Amino acid sequence: MTDRSPQEAHALPSRISLLIIGGGPAGLAAAVAAWDAGCHDLLIVERDDELGGILNQCIHNGFGLHRFKEELTGPEYAGRYIEMVRERGIPYLCSAMVLEINMRREVTLISPETGLSQIRAGAVILAMGCRERPRGALGTPGTRCAGIMTTGTAQRLTNLEGYLPGRRVVILGSGDIGLIMARRMTFEGAKVLACVEIMPYSSGLTRNVVQCLQDFNIPLMLNHTVIDIHGRERLEGVTIAAVNPDTRQPLPETAQRIDCDTLLLSVGLIPENELSRMAGVPLSPGTRGPIVDQSLATEVPGIFACGNVLHVHDLVDEVSEESARAGRAAVEWLARMKRPAAAAETVTVPVREGRGVRGLVPQYLQLTDRASFSPDETWPITFRPDDVYRGGVVLIRADGKLIQRRKTRIMTPGEMVVERLKAADLPAGPIRELTVEVEGVPQHA
Ligand SMILES: Cc1cc2nc3c(=O)[nH]c(=O)nc-3n(C[C@H](O)[C@H](O)[C@H](O)COP(=O)(O)OP(=O)(O)OC[C@H]3O[C@@H](n4cnc5c(N)ncnc54)[C@H](O)[C@@H]3O)c2cc1C
Repeated sequence: MTDRSPQEAHALPSRISLLIIGGGPAGLAAAVAAWDAGCHDLLIVERDDELGGILNQCIHNGFGLHRFKEELTGPEYAGRYIEMVRERGIPYLCSAMVLEINMRREVTLISPETGLSQIRAGAVILAMGCRERPRGALGTPGTRCAGIMTTGTAQRLTNLEGYLPGRRVVILGSGDIGLIMARRMTFEGAKVLACVEIMPYSSGLTRNVVQCLQDFNIPLMLNHTVIDIHGRERLEGVTIAAVNPDTRQPLPETAQRIDCDTLLLSVGLIPENELSRMAGVPLSPGTRGPIVDQSLATEVPGIFACGNVLHVHDLVDEVSEESARAGRAAVEWLARMKRPAAAAETVTVPVREGRGVRGLVPQYLQLTDRASFSPDETWPITFRPDDVYRGGVVLIRADGKLIQRRKTRIMTPGEMVVERLKAADLPAGPIRELTVEVEGVPQHA
């Protein structure tokens, strides 16, 4: 059944206050927050035939522990937000793909219901999610036989379409989707022979390593990679080898063949940023998503970004929190545009990645009049450490002076760190830059 809202348009308006591209958890949370902040002239555009995004295929539980204090499956979590959208009567259009967008926020989209349309939006929220890195990006030698696919494709085949992609499975990479699919394929009767990871640590959450591999005796082969693929029509086996821990180059003397009919790739997610580029939004080399300030505004006026299109998250709960901020910020921006004379002068303060920090968001702060911040206002600053740190300390400095310090038990690259910068901790007077760094001994240095 196709999702429909009572307000669903058959002829789209030529102008709209807020257009949200993507009806996954990010787009839904942004829409609900924008509506609650008073913007009722908005539209969610979703290319799939239903709302919910990638969560619709994530039928395992573990979602919503933070947001709803309950353990939900992916579709249940998405369902909560779809319900909020429906309760409010927020308009959305499914089976509709945004094809183009420019800096003036003129958006071209196509759908069977409305044909090819152009809408001029007062503000746009980019919430297009991410995609999986494919085999081509790895350059693994070997034949191009059937049986090699991304873990997301295998998840869709197994959970939504009812097919078992294979019976003897090797997983390359140990991202969360790979770990979850190791368990899922086992539940479905397949034998998962190994999860092969080139790095000395898993790139997934610790809880997933324990619950999806260790609990099912699936070996996690760290410092290993696939060096050859065998099979003509269908995959017959892969050769794996240990890698030199310093150079990450395979050690041929350690090569061993594993007979298998399926190789699943779990080798990273990349923000879906074709539209962001078209709109002229500058991207960060660290996150591969848009460069944003603390309100999730990109450097193109009126265009905001949230969720996996901005940076890849581990937990959907954090996607929802972030996207609600983007929704409220877009509404504030629309209100400011109606009274530009009142716009206060802002100062841009870069937030830089210091030692041990990768993929920092936001990349800069926009500071207006300090008196306008409430004393307990906080801004999330997120990043991934470059290694595993036990007892590491996160330091935030303003022009070299320490303003925040937090000791952690353990930090790993597989788990996004969320720091909450307190506005009240910013020093009075001008600031040139903030730096975030990790103090501690990297476990694999
Ligand atoms: C294959 C896969 C499996 C995952 N499994 C898990 C998991 O098990 N557990 C977990 O916590 N997290 C998982 N994640 C992470 C999960 O994606 C995020 O937690 C969350 O779904 C991100 O929300 P989002 O709205 O940013 O992205 P998405 O959920 O990806 O939603 C983006 C939406 O934008 C739409 N869209 C994209 N481009 C356009 C366009 N041009 N026009 C219109 N619509 C467009 C897409 O169709 C999609 O519905 C998974 C991610 C992937 C890719």
